[in-house]
Amino acid sequence: MTDTPDIMVDCPECGKPAHYHPSNPDRPFCSSRCRLIDLGEWADEGHRIPGDPVPSDDDQELH
Ligand SMILES: [Zn+2]
Repeated sequence: MTDTPDIMVDCPECGKPAHYHPSNPDRPFCSSRCRLIDLGEWADEGHRIPGDPVPSDDDQELH
């Protein structure tokens, strides 16, 4: 096998060129910071359930 080509991709977070290479543990992000930001947004959205019950008049009647 030949060397893995050093492909450059746009970082999904900041849009900067990022090394899409096995040596880059943060690929396809340009840095661990962007990777964590993206993961954080993902987790945040995961906790936000569409149609999440909100305090309503019915809830107030129970108390
Ligand atoms: Zn980035």
